[in-house]
Amino acid sequence: MATISDEEQVTIGGIVILIVCSCLVIYWIFFQKRNKRIKREDRVSMGRVDEAYRPRPVATGSHCSLDEAAHYAFTNSGTLLYARGTIYWSEEYKHAEEVFIRKTRDEDISNIGTIWIKNSPCSKCAAKLIEYFNLVPNKPTVYIGKIWRGEYGDEESNKEGLKKMKRKGFKLLVWEDDKNEDEEETREYLRNIDM
Ligand SMILES: [Zn+2]
Repeated sequence: MATISDEEQVTIGGIVILIVCSCLVIYWIFFQKRNKRIKREDRVSMGRVDEAYRPRPVATGSHCSLDEAAHYAFTNSGTLLYARGTIYWSEEYKHAEEVFIRKTRDEDISNIGTIWIKNSPCSKCAAKLIEYFNLVPNKPTVYIGKIWRGEYGDEESNKEGLKKMKRKGFKLLVWEDDKNEDEEETREYLRNIDM
């Protein structure tokens, strides 16, 4: 019967330790990568913009046609608001509506008849828009790409926010565009919102 010498035992022990260490290192690298990916997906799913990962094709304040705005809105993550030919992107921790309000604060907004928004306003943004257009008698028509249900306020409070906008005189319609995959769902949602 073959026996293992002391020297061989030391070698086998070394190899086993090497294999275990390698596995640990590989596992650690995998874990780090996975963590990074999850963090990034979190940010995207919350509608936040991580500029490092998601460079914008054009900056906030850029002017473009409605067709171009639709292209930008439905081929990029985050939210986009388009009004008077100007683009307003969401920023990290700032929704597009908040960026729009901040950027137009010193302007006359009474001539804004139409607003296009990729994601429907959350309950907070709905309240901010109502407040912002408080003194404007003719509220803008708001075209919405997709219904934003979660994260900032629950679905019910977000729905209540949209209903409040309607009661205040905003007209809510679906943003129709070939690239908007949620068009049908948004139309149905808005049609049944009062039920
Ligand atoms: Zn919001």
